[in-house]
Amino acid sequence: MYPHSTAEGTHMDGCLFCKIVAGDVPATLVRETESTVAFRDINPQAPTHVLVIPRVHHPDAASLAAAEPEIAADVLREAGEVAKEEKLDSYRIVFNTGSGAGQTVFHAHAHVLGGRGLQWPPG
Ligand code: 5GP
Repeated sequence: MYPHSTAEGTHMDGCLFCKIVAGDVPATLVRETESTVAFRDINPQAPTHVLVIPRVHHPDAASLAAAEPEIAADVLREAGEVAKEEKLDSYRIVFNTGSGAGQTVFHAHAHVLGGRGLQWPPG
């Protein structure tokens, strides 16, 4: 069902990624579904660096999964579809959670990174 309404609402005023979902901030879209939007990161950290976000606003991936697990699954499925479309044999899906882990936009998003060797452990 779309739109999804949650206790937190579907949209957060002032949220950059809600503005991208609404089309108020431009982005290079890669894929769209009823529940998700995928677009290229403005500051790519790898040859492929795509962000997959839910249309609904939740501050991080765990909050999304707790509140709307089917949409969290959609985000993961779409991350895989992006990797397939970008012809990535190996890739990384990253959910930075909390500012100490590098999260700067507090609207849940998966980074899909690939197209180069990726180090482990990450920095
Ligand atoms: P985080 O640091 O929260 O895990 O990831 C946020 C990501 O959003 C960063 O990789 C950053 O480069 C990207 N980003 C920030 N502002 C914009 C924007 O206006 N457009 C796009 N496409 N990406 C953005």
